[in-house]
Amino acid sequence: MTTNQQRRVEDGQIVTLHYTLTNSEGEVLDSSEDSEPLLYLHGGGNIVPGLENALTGHVAGDHLQVTVKPADGYGDRVGPGPRPVPRNEFPDDVDLEPGMQFLTEGAGGEAVPVWITDVGADTVQVDFNHPLAGETLHFDVTVVETRPATEEEMEHGHPHGPEGHHHH
Ligand code: ZN
Repeated sequence: MTTNQQRRVEDGQIVTLHYTLTNSEGEVLDSSEDSEPLLYLHGGGNIVPGLENALTGHVAGDHLQVTVKPADGYGDRVGPGPRPVPRNEFPDDVDLEPGMQFLTEGAGGEAVPVWITDVGADTVQVDFNHPLAGETLHFDVTVVETRPATEEEMEHGHPHGPEGHHHH
């Protein structure tokens, strides 16, 4: 028998963690501290590569501070910046807000994510960059728990909740 305390973070583990994400100015961008901890499948690409790599080999109770460069985070900021799209190309029944992600069709018919940066009456500005592209990310992370992923979770490539039974 192995206890949770001894089980190391590795591919195929569902990891539960608490985290606080700050940018280089020290501004808190996101935190799990006042809500539910984050669950992810290690090796599944659920979280940014720089954080996933840093967590490898850690055990429950470990506390670490990880600095992630854009290349291992949300990528470098590329392209000419936001471009306008008519409001009527978006669904009528959705309240558009900056930061929302939509999928658009690329030149080869592939799905390409875009993020809203500004919403006007007739025009919406969208950008191909993730809102955190170009940012160096500072994660303060505590590993709460690890457990092996279920077969179903491995197939789906993501966790299904603390016990692995939740379905969606
Ligand atoms: Zn699933």
